Amino acid sequence: MNEPPSTIPIMPGSLGWLDDELQKLDRDHLRRFRREISPLPGARCLVDGREVINFASNDYLDLAGDPRVVAAAQRALAECGAGSRASALVCGRTRWHAALENRLARFERQAAAVLFPTGFAANLGTICALAGRNDHVFSDRLNHASLIDGCRLSGANTGIYEHDNLAGLRNLLNATPAGGRRWIVTDSVFSMDGDLAPLPALCDLAERFDATLLVDEAHATGVFGAEGRGVAELQGVEDHVAVRVGTLSKAVGALGGFVAGPQELIDWIWNRARPQMFSTALPPAVCAAAEQAIEIIEIEPDRRRRLLQLGALLRSRLAAAGIDAATQAIGPIVPVILRTAERAVEVAQELERAGFLVGAIRPPTVPRGTSRLRITLSSGHESSDVERLADALTAALKN
Ligand code: PMP
Repeated sequence: MNEPPSTIPIMPGSLGWLDDELQKLDRDHLRRFRREISPLPGARCLVDGREVINFASNDYLDLAGDPRVVAAAQRALAECGAGSRASALVCGRTRWHAALENRLARFERQAAAVLFPTGFAANLGTICALAGRNDHVFSDRLNHASLIDGCRLSGANTGIYEHDNLAGLRNLLNATPAGGRRWIVTDSVFSMDGDLAPLPALCDLAERFDATLLVDEAHATGVFGAEGRGVAELQGVEDHVAVRVGTLSKAVGALGGFVAGPQELIDWIWNRARPQMFSTALPPAVCAAAEQAIEIIEIEPDRRRRLLQLGALLRSRLAAAGIDAATQAIGPIVPVILRTAERAVEVAQELERAGFLVGAIRPPTVPRGTSRLRITLSSGHESSDVERLADALTAALKN
């Protein structure tokens, strides 16, 4: 651990209110503390030096530490150095960026793709590049913060519809005055619940009401669909989703966001999306890692099959123990709603003592009264890891 500086500056009096606010977070069990996590092979990690099985990461396909991915990054690092030296528009777009964009376009079966520094930046930048003050954006209440912030920052009139409530969305679309463009934005996998958006129905509504659908496949790329392109592939509507956003930080195991689509869309985003215009481009080594990971996603479909099997195993174990964990859903995100923040933290701590790292998700990440454990699976887990977690959780919930 880093040593603290020898002289600690005194906090200015004008920031004195922070202490009160932090104490309030403590009282409400909402304060987050920073810890040191060191990843280990086999979906394990050290938490402040102690080994646990990691059920909190988004490395769904166990690719972040794959030796082929690491070697690809090392080659680019040796050749090009640590950083990209400028934004992509200026001189930061190296051959690794170009190769990754081409690979993503081919993988997504689209004409072109453009990279962003993160998935958050991709959502924010894309919505703001496309929707403006005269437009209307419709957004699912449980959409990710980056979609929500993109809607806010775009200045468009934003209508929030209740989660998956298509009748509510139809009413909003019906009530919207003519003029301006209409956009529907949605996650394809809701990150804290793990459920899938009903994309065919959203496509129908978009077509009927002359709206354009933007789908964030952050948790779906590499995971869903026979070839791993996400929920649009799984649900057979790829040709009807106009704007598809993805991230390289989850199943791809690296970092960065992207949009894939027709050449004109990508050219427009390249010219207009501020987070990629005004941020330094991704490090080349990250691009090399992501490109190698995409290749593995293409040639090793067993990883996602195994991941979905582990999801089914955990859900059936929890259901057998009488634990309500969205058992109708599929995929690697398994929420266990515990309602209060205090209970979520308590059970997560109990699990950690038993050797399992699980996220305790609290407001503002989820609505008040819906604090939960968010269990995430990886193809690197063994079935026995999942069975042991189910047993430990069953025991912890009895306390
Ligand atoms: N979209 C969704 C649905 C997410 O869950 C996240 C990450 N939590 C993002 C976008 C942002 O992706 P990134 O971590 O690559 O910025």
